[in-house]
Amino acid sequence: MIRIYDTALGNLVELDLRDDNRMAMYVCGPTVYDTPHIGHGRFGLIFDVLRRYLQFMGIEVTYVSNVTDIDDKIIEKANQVSSSTAEIAAKYEQEWWDVMDALGILRPTHTPHATQYVTQMVEVIAHLVEKGLAYNTVEGVYMEVEKIPGYGLLAHQPLDTLKSGARLMVCSSHKRSPLDFVLWKPAKPGEPTWDSPWGKGRPGWHTECVTMALDLLGEDFDLHGGGADLAFPHHENERAQAQGLGRRFARRWMHNGWVVVEGEKMSKSLGNFVSLKDLVEQTDPRSYRLLVLRSHYRSPLEVTKRTILDAQDALQRLDALKRRFENPDILPDSLPDPLNRELAQATKQFHDKMEDDLDTPAALAVIFDLVRKANTLADQGQLAYGALVAGEVFSLCQALGLFAAVTDNNLVDDEITKLVNSRDQARLAGNYALADSLRKQLLAKGWVAEDTPVGTKLRHA
Ligand SMILES: [Zn+2]
Repeated sequence: MIRIYDTALGNLVELDLRDDNRMAMYVCGPTVYDTPHIGHGRFGLIFDVLRRYLQFMGIEVTYVSNVTDIDDKIIEKANQVSSSTAEIAAKYEQEWWDVMDALGILRPTHTPHATQYVTQMVEVIAHLVEKGLAYNTVEGVYMEVEKIPGYGLLAHQPLDTLKSGARLMVCSSHKRSPLDFVLWKPAKPGEPTWDSPWGKGRPGWHTECVTMALDLLGEDFDLHGGGADLAFPHHENERAQAQGLGRRFARRWMHNGWVVVEGEKMSKSLGNFVSLKDLVEQTDPRSYRLLVLRSHYRSPLEVTKRTILDAQDALQRLDALKRRFENPDILPDSLPDPLNRELAQATKQFHDKMEDDLDTPAALAVIFDLVRKANTLADQGQLAYGALVAGEVFSLCQALGLFAAVTDNNLVDDEITKLVNSRDQARLAGNYALADSLRKQLLAKGWVAEDTPVGTKLRHA
């Protein structure tokens, strides 16, 4: 089973699943008030690769990612442009899905919206107040974090250090501790509001994800992910609420590193904010996926014109391979030894690397070795053997989302993708009876599976 670096433990651990062959994961989604940037693209791609890889390995993944459609920043934007918060949220949510689709990121299984979850969030807050873990003030309801044993786990810093850090930023005199965070904000004039036992207002951001994750995935779900900047305080605050409710929360925590643009950490304040829309419009969107895969997910990702062009070059090598082997005359059933052994070893190495904390740079290196191998075989006149090696390249690329089974991934659901992947694996393993039974299952669901040397292609029956 795959091992990942668990931020809470500060260690590599097996991703032991709550339910056999089923993965329940939650990844914090966007606050929809502005154009998505390349940092969003990075986390979207990393968790998409994790999901696709697990699906490729036959694991059913339930992927929940929220949409924060009410927030200070949305209200501010709505006021700036004299629009409603609902209009702002709808506009930027559409932009979000447009670029995520362009990047080939599979849509989450569930995308709960904050405004649809207010009733459940009020229940969560009321429960925390009832238990004496939250208190009401004129500035809103706050969570009293010092009543939560072990608070600060995800920050890996002692409470006192966190407190002095928070004290520097605190501007409220109503908090019992500078670390206490808001659960319910009282209504301000002109803002959208909801009813609550503490008067009209709206829930705080940290209550959103804990409520949705527990509702849609249940207790003790497998993985909670997001960008490293979310680990503290956002994820810690989610964790604190779950703990306060006496409910088991995420088993594992996974965080990705930040993006460095032209040598500087990307942030809006630095002015090196790069729009994802510009990126997907100006380059082959798959090159950003390849670029993301070339760095380990916990390392900073350097985005410069040069790194993007390099990724585009590498992608062209894959595309050239695809063109070269699209129509080989006859595909042999198997490769002769030692070629066969070599291919099996390379495949194993690919999986070993992926399962070692998603070491995608090393897994990609295995793929590009196979690309060279396929080309060398073809150069030596062994086109059919080259085609078999190329077939494996494209199968492994599917696990990374580089070449999906169908051009538009979002046209088919997870179940179909899983059937196609299982079928490709069965064909590669030479299990033609299983491959045929999977082809029939696809047909029953309205899809004709066509064999090509680069994997299965689908068309409507
Ligand atoms: Zn969240």
